[in-house]
Amino acid sequence: MKVAEVVLPVPLNKSFYYTIPEEFKEKELKYRRVSVPFGTRNLDGYVISVIENYQQDKKIKLKNIKNIIDDAEILTNEISELAKWLSQTYLCSIGEALATIVPISLKVPKKNSKIKKKKIKISDPNFNMTDYQKTAVEKIEKAIKENTNKTFLIHGVTGSGKTEVYLKSIKTAIDNNKSAIFLLPEISLTPQFISILNKRFGDIVALWHSGVTTIQKYKIFNAIRAGEIKIVVGARSAIFLPFTNLGLIIIDEEHENTYKQNNKPCYDTKEIALWRAKYNNSVTVLGSATPSIETYYSAKTNKYELLEMPYRIDKKDMPSIKMLSLRNVKTTVSVFSKPMLQAIKRALARREQVIIFLNRRGFSPSIICKKCDTVIQCPDCSVAMVYHKHPEHLECHYCGKQMKFPLKCPHCGNKEYKVIGMATQRVEEDLQNLFPHTKVFRLDRDTATSKQVYTEVYEGIKNEEYSILLGTQMVTKGFDFPRVSLVCVVDADTSLYLPDFRSSERTFQLITQVAGRCGRADIKGKVLVQTKYPENYALDFAQKYDYKKFYEQEIEIRKELSYPPFCNIAKITVRNKDNQKSLEFTEKIYKITEEEISNKSYPVSILGPAQSYISKLNGTYRWQIILKGDRKQLKEILEYLQSLIKLPSGTFINIELDPSDLL
Ligand code: ADP
Ligand code: ZN
Repeated sequence: MKVAEVVLPVPLNKSFYYTIPEEFKEKELKYRRVSVPFGTRNLDGYVISVIENYQQDKKIKLKNIKNIIDDAEILTNEISELAKWLSQTYLCSIGEALATIVPISLKVPKKNSKIKKKKIKISDPNFNMTDYQKTAVEKIEKAIKENTNKTFLIHGVTGSGKTEVYLKSIKTAIDNNKSAIFLLPEISLTPQFISILNKRFGDIVALWHSGVTTIQKYKIFNAIRAGEIKIVVGARSAIFLPFTNLGLIIIDEEHENTYKQNNKPCYDTKEIALWRAKYNNSVTVLGSATPSIETYYSAKTNKYELLEMPYRIDKKDMPSIKMLSLRNVKTTVSVFSKPMLQAIKRALARREQVIIFLNRRGFSPSIICKKCDTVIQCPDCSVAMVYHKHPEHLECHYCGKQMKFPLKCPHCGNKEYKVIGMATQRVEEDLQNLFPHTKVFRLDRDTATSKQVYTEVYEGIKNEEYSILLGTQMVTKGFDFPRVSLVCVVDADTSLYLPDFRSSERTFQLITQVAGRCGRADIKGKVLVQTKYPENYALDFAQKYDYKKFYEQEIEIRKELSYPPFCNIAKITVRNKDNQKSLEFTEKIYKITEEEISNKSYPVSILGPAQSYISKLNGTYRWQIILKGDRKQLKEILEYLQSLIKLPSGTFINIELDPSDLL
């Protein structure tokens, strides 16, 4: 009997078999999306093979495929292989892997499934490449042309012209009849890069991220298969697009943790890129001014080829970075210390632009009863509610819960509060009072409510409609605005002492990246950083732009304390509404794991159970266990755990291999 083998987005790692109704018998079903009955409902899944002589188990009556969803197949051989690998590597079912790889919600448009094409004038740059750019391009070009599977790391300071190297490499791929994927860490950067790529390559470029509509995604999917789209710029999910002749994958700002997905399947975009590059005999280019410690280690140990670009274009100076100690400074009047305020004044007087960075949205991060000093906390999370002024309310930044304000103190009933600490709305208010005639663009999650905002900010700053760009980490990376001469970091300490082995690395990266936003063209740049800990080594090396020294110190610490790249990590997080139950279940997992480690004599260490950094989230109490060892053994342990544990109702578990943090 002829049946279709179908995988479905359910957490069961097996295929399901369906008979093929008469009307579909003639059709090529392999790799097509189908709708099938599953239990009492219908599910969409993929046919991964058609079996001609299926031996039917007499007791099981197979059901018919209900419907074929698209006009053509959705999967390719590569994508189907990738799904298998993903499911093995990140501990999920093939169906779940496929649901991640191909957006199952791809909407079939009623008619006209073609992308609207604009006529775009193509132009080349009006400069010659620097020697560093030339060397990098030559090496990448050679690998692309010779179909060599290779990974490059471009370690180039901010403003060293990495983008031009990416563009020339893409050109080589296209000229050799291949396609390219260009990944960015933030949607906010896509307008800048899509505009650059359109100018260079015309309409063979498409944009792909979570803000793109499902109908548009479907059209892009089809256009990729038809070979009309050869280049995609996008966020991490673009790594899965079904190009059949993928020649080049670029991961810009490779150190960003947005390249890791932290819910199931917890994949790492870089690993997917390397897998696809291997499958296609092609090239991966990672680029950063502040590579992650692991990536730089891979380059140092010759797993990747290191391409260095140590100078800015025309050997322009890096902007000077100055630490402003806040230890003995009162900033209650304004969030700005005197020198910072002076510097902003001067820059504005010279008609230059200023970027102000503070990694906290809202007005102030805590609000305290004047009478009894009670901090208003989220009822569902173990964090303080953030005070927002416009519109006035309190908001939990972890679960999103909002509360009306003013409210009575839950402890003493008083109605007067102190507003403690600063966030972006407060900085904005300060700026409006200090510089009433200056236009400020505030970019944070509260203002970035649609993807048009990213285009508005890009155009608005580029065309000098705004003098100040104020915002959260969205303003720190990738932007290339020639008239920005001053960068102010209002509070460098937000990430400094988090209980996570990457907190120094993150701080170093953040300061270097945001500093890199100024002095990029003709005007000299200057960076001012307010901190209570000016002597911290991450800040100190960032101030000196000494990545190598920072790396050397950091890698020693990693070795000594046994952290990546010297081991792999697995994080198991357990949640339950009842704290005791959550802890008990974590203890149970701990015991099973410990026994398995000892039975098999695995060289794996186990830490915990410990409360997660945010111990209560969304009304559930969270406990975690950390395992350190190598990937293979961690995976064996986790697979064993998954096969063994039965979750009591109300208990949830999240397993991450090499998580982006241990918080
Ligand atoms: P990075 O990505 O390394 O921070 P960019 O690629 O954004 O740096 O380059 C910084 C600026 O220098 C851009 O405006 C770019 O157009 C310009 N640029 C790049 N290469 C050259 C070059 N060889 N000569 C002159 N200008 C260049
Ligand atoms: Zn909350």
